[in-house]
Amino acid sequence: MPGVMRLKPTILGVSLTVVLCLPLAAWTFYKPVWLLAPSLAGVSCITDVICTDAPKRSDEARKLYAEAFACVARKLGPIKSRPRAVFCTSDACARSFGLGRSTAKTVGPLGTIFGPRAWKPHYVRHELIHQIQNERLGTYRALRSPKWFIEGMAYSLSEDPRSPLAEPFEQYRSLFEAWSRSVGKDELWQKASEL
Ligand SMILES: [Zn+2]
Repeated sequence: MPGVMRLKPTILGVSLTVVLCLPLAAWTFYKPVWLLAPSLAGVSCITDVICTDAPKRSDEARKLYAEAFACVARKLGPIKSRPRAVFCTSDACARSFGLGRSTAKTVGPLGTIFGPRAWKPHYVRHELIHQIQNERLGTYRALRSPKWFIEGMAYSLSEDPRSPLAEPFEQYRSLFEAWSRSVGKDELWQKASEL
């Protein structure tokens, strides 16, 4: 497979270790698990965390990631990890990572899959905001947090240009913005963990 030929030895080593350590059923039935070893799923990894099925658009993927990373850090504090991101230009690529009907999807700590329509700054920021939510709140608490907070924050702070958003997301965004005006920036994550 062409993607494997482009692998750096260290990435190949990590990928093979991951493959060998997970049960076969996980790779067969839970497609997002391929985020752990994307280069073995046929995409090219252009950095240790950014992969794409369109190497010609590597610069674009890299810029989108860097801009979103900096923007989220400016608004919410530094992202401690560098979340893995797969940028797909084809539906087949997106499907192979289990994207489904969504434009993009963050799968807990595994990383994010961006589909063909998600190559836009606000989509990449949106998903990195979900990553920092997982990081600061913990994946379990983030899953149990109110939807208005999780999605409202992502739509608001990603500067999503759509107005109004389809419901319930417009309402979630309004609720988050009202809530965030009532808490200080320094106590945001503490207050969020109490929701
Ligand atoms: Zn979201």
